[in-house]
Amino acid sequence: MAYIIDGKKISSEIKEELKETVAQLKEDGVSACLAVIQVGNDPASSVYVGNKKKACAFIGIDSKSYELPEETTQEELLGLIDELNQDPAVDGILVQLPIPAHMDEKEVIHAISPAKDVDGFHPQSVGALSIGEEGFVSCTPAGIIQLLKRSNIEIEGKECVVVGRSNIVGKPMAMLLLRENGTVTICHSRTKDLREVCKRADILVAAIGKPRFFDDSYVKDGAVVIDVGIHRGEDGKLCGDVDYAKVVDKVSAITPVPGGVGPMTIAMLMNNCVEAAKRKR
Ligand code: NDP
Repeated sequence: MAYIIDGKKISSEIKEELKETVAQLKEDGVSACLAVIQVGNDPASSVYVGNKKKACAFIGIDSKSYELPEETTQEELLGLIDELNQDPAVDGILVQLPIPAHMDEKEVIHAISPAKDVDGFHPQSVGALSIGEEGFVSCTPAGIIQLLKRSNIEIEGKECVVVGRSNIVGKPMAMLLLRENGTVTICHSRTKDLREVCKRADILVAAIGKPRFFDDSYVKDGAVVIDVGIHRGEDGKLCGDVDYAKVVDKVSAITPVPGGVGPMTIAMLMNNCVEAAKRKR
């Protein structure tokens, strides 16, 4: 029987631990503060921002919220980021993506001070990860490492196959698995014989954004399967990149959707904010 990796439970444990850390920091006179910027009123982004603010309130992190109108200019947004970079009371800055099409996302990401880059998207953070220096790590892949470690799944020496090479999931995921001494293969849309490569995996991370793409023919007996994808089907139900029903009897452990990787992203964002506040101390 497969072990179902419970992301809801693990993320709650992490948030409880962070709550204690924040209380201790407060006793030492150190507070933690996250600034969240949303441009426009995309309903999905509003939900994500709301969830981040709720998590901050639960843990005891102060949150500053900036809801800017759709027609905000790039200069205005960069001006606000600059102000927040200079503000010693702000530990982390998060710009909810996507931003409106008239803005330059890359320039916005580059404008956030690496010391406050709690999303881990700044090139300096990405570079630090690849050369093993201290820096913030992208939250979803960092959360996956926590899921594995807290489920006592060993990474060292394992064949790890990451399918997807985006800057926020696939690439940092591969770097983190490598840091944990896994033997890592990265696959993408041009990979030949994807099925055969996936079947070699002891740990398979599926992050391609295609509903129920990976069935049992992609999975080795006893593998660990991490499903990053999240999709809402026509029936209104959520599913991942993995065909859970077809795969679950073949694997040793698997993350469900919902309740697997999803809840970890916010927990790791909170972790990064607390780390930023600790560094200030
Ligand atoms: P992107 O669209 O940025 O990247 C998808 C990657 O998958 C690309 O590298 C692409 O290859 C590759 N790919 C696409 N189709 C195939 C295929 N048929 N075979 C092999 N590789 C393929 O997606 P993200 O990385 O941002 O997200 C991936 C999924 O994870 C999405 O479903 C997203 O919703 C979800 N997600 C979930 C999060 C969570 O908190 N649970 C957080 C972030 C994302 P190429 O580079 O060649 O185009």
